[in-house]
Amino acid sequence: MPGIGSRVRISFGSQTLVGIVIAIDSEHEIPLEKIKPVLQVLDETPLLDERLLVLYQFASSYYLYPPGLALQASLPRAFREGKPLQGRVLKMWQLSETGKTLEMESLARAPQQVRALSLLRSYEALSPAELSTLLSRPSGPILQALEEKGLICQVETSPGMTTDTTLKEAPLNFNAGQQAAFDAIRSASAGFNCFLLEGITGSGKTEIYLQLIHETLQRGKQALVLVPEISLTPQTIRRFSQRFQCRFESYHSGLSEIQRQDVWLAGRTGEADIIIGTRSSVFLPFDQLGLIIVDEEHDDSYKQQEGFRYNARDLAVWRARQLKIPLVLCSATPSLESLNNALQGRYQLLQLPERAGKATSPQLKLVDLRQQSTEEGFAPTVIAEIGKKLQSNEQVLVFLNRRGFSPVMLCEDCGWIAQCTRCEKSYTLHRQPAGLRCHHCDAARPLPQRCGECGSSRLNAQGMGTERTESFLAGRFPDFPVIRIDRDSTRRQDSLAQKLQQADSGIPCILVGTQMLAKGHHFPKVSLVVIMDADSGLFSADFRAHENLGQLLIQVAGRSGRSDKPGTVLIQTWHPEHPSLRKLLESGYGNFARSLIEERKSGQLPPSSRLVLLRAEASRQHLPMEFLSAVRKLLADMQASGVSLHGPMPSPMGKKAGRFRAQLMLMSVSRQKLHNTGSSLAVMLEQLPQARSVRWHIDVDPVDFS
Ligand code: ADP
Ligand code: ZN
Ligand code: ZN
Repeated sequence: MPGIGSRVRISFGSQTLVGIVIAIDSEHEIPLEKIKPVLQVLDETPLLDERLLVLYQFASSYYLYPPGLALQASLPRAFREGKPLQGRVLKMWQLSETGKTLEMESLARAPQQVRALSLLRSYEALSPAELSTLLSRPSGPILQALEEKGLICQVETSPGMTTDTTLKEAPLNFNAGQQAAFDAIRSASAGFNCFLLEGITGSGKTEIYLQLIHETLQRGKQALVLVPEISLTPQTIRRFSQRFQCRFESYHSGLSEIQRQDVWLAGRTGEADIIIGTRSSVFLPFDQLGLIIVDEEHDDSYKQQEGFRYNARDLAVWRARQLKIPLVLCSATPSLESLNNALQGRYQLLQLPERAGKATSPQLKLVDLRQQSTEEGFAPTVIAEIGKKLQSNEQVLVFLNRRGFSPVMLCEDCGWIAQCTRCEKSYTLHRQPAGLRCHHCDAARPLPQRCGECGSSRLNAQGMGTERTESFLAGRFPDFPVIRIDRDSTRRQDSLAQKLQQADSGIPCILVGTQMLAKGHHFPKVSLVVIMDADSGLFSADFRAHENLGQLLIQVAGRSGRSDKPGTVLIQTWHPEHPSLRKLLESGYGNFARSLIEERKSGQLPPSSRLVLLRAEASRQHLPMEFLSAVRKLLADMQASGVSLHGPMPSPMGKKAGRFRAQLMLMSVSRQKLHNTGSSLAVMLEQLPQARSVRWHIDVDPVDFS
């Protein structure tokens, strides 16, 4: 008989499928001849242990998503397909004697091999997954080539070996604030405890959790570190490699299927001592998990935005409670949800108000754009400041959250704007490669030579995107490289890593980019940050807009002056008197966020309440609203107490990729009541005839309201 959590083959209609046993019942009311036999038991030892199954069951129930699909969304593919679990010993690679003495020039025609060799030189030993992460490309073929040349060899390891807790480098001596935070976490009672470590960028949060992890390893336990995006945090990965002798692995979408499978199994057997991963790592199995860290806990990428719409941060908290272990949420700009939990005493709040080491906090200044003649979006004083920094061998970061050349293409004779008809939004003009592109549905079309309305050739690009800013700055400061970092310029595998490396080299340069620049990576040589436009977030209808703006500004600002040079942040705005902006600058993110919590409270918005969003879309305009109106009526008939209904209303982005969109919001101060209503809603939708005429989904604790 298969155990609970084992995979089995079953027949399902005319197909044979792989299933997972979630319960075994000896009594049933279904006639025996109607029950199908299990065709084959695939696992002797269950694939999923009970704790993991319970986590999946909770996630499926809380996010109102079918359990089978939830498993499908997060298990490595080989396991879903029923392939045997290969208890492969994870291979670690190191340089062979030949590799150690090789002159790199002899490999000049194989630059990836040279990079891999130099990484192995500085890290001593790496697993294929780690190397893939560091190279931002699959490491398999490169390792194979190097092995064939006899330049690398495998490190002898055996499964279940005891963890080597010695450190490669000595930990830093804590300052008083770090010590207090560390002691508070260490001395907390055994069992579940959730800490919110609110520390400004550069205050030494990472150093604290590195030392917590070390202490966890010494107790014979494993640690899980969640990060928003691995490719943006090579520095963090490097710090782990430089510090720990033990086995650490990373888990993210850039790995091959085989590597994902290996890391998954290494967690389960306990071979991997530390796993750093993105959102889906919250579902990794562990033999002896002893600590969870969620870095940059405010980051929206912890929330999956399609299919299984879970929030990895929130599931991490649930999992820590289930396993009775400590969890630390870290951020310079905590989410209002976590901050509110801390203020209410559910989490323990630990604060680090000062930068660690020698670095001083950056100075934030508003640049009033009114009554100034700007040049390509820059105030003259800002351009002068950029010039000064470059002349004194420093780096400048220019932040603009809009990729492409310009966001609007306009006919100067009749006012026509080139629009994507599938989304009813203006196309963005791109120069590299040239064309119009819709940033909502990715539609592309060639650059028009004439106006689509009046035929005039006086077409004009309006507004600034990163491409245009890049070309302006390159023309203005021809002696200095301009490095653009956005989704377009880093599409090619490896190009992001190369660009980051170029910046890390410390040469005076200008970095231009979108919010990719705001995440994770530190640019120690940047001493000036320019924020081109703070205003787009000030007047949005989205109730989370101010929170997001505050986080973004402070995160971008925090990239600068991380070493000995003090940083300056210039924020260009047309609304220097805006109360939110003033609050943020004058009293800091912490107070700004606390006052936003109060505002949300008076509006009964999250975190004072909870939301469930039902979204619907269809190619015919009236269908989504009709469907949602029918749902609203049924919900009203149910008279769910304590749950209020808002809408239906067309979504802010009312049409996307040719489909019309609308939403209905359920809100309650009681999580339980909302969950009950949401569950009935899910059942009801399966039976509602109108539901077949639209595409719909339920989003619990939504973060995207577009
Ligand atoms: P955070 O994670 O809060 O951004 P980090 O842990 O990355 O901060 O620390 C920022 C910088 O300060 C790093 O370069 C780190 O090496 C250094 N640092 C951290 N703690 C100390 C300390 N106690 N003494 C000296 N330098 C420190
Ligand atoms: Zn025209
Ligand atoms: Zn479009």
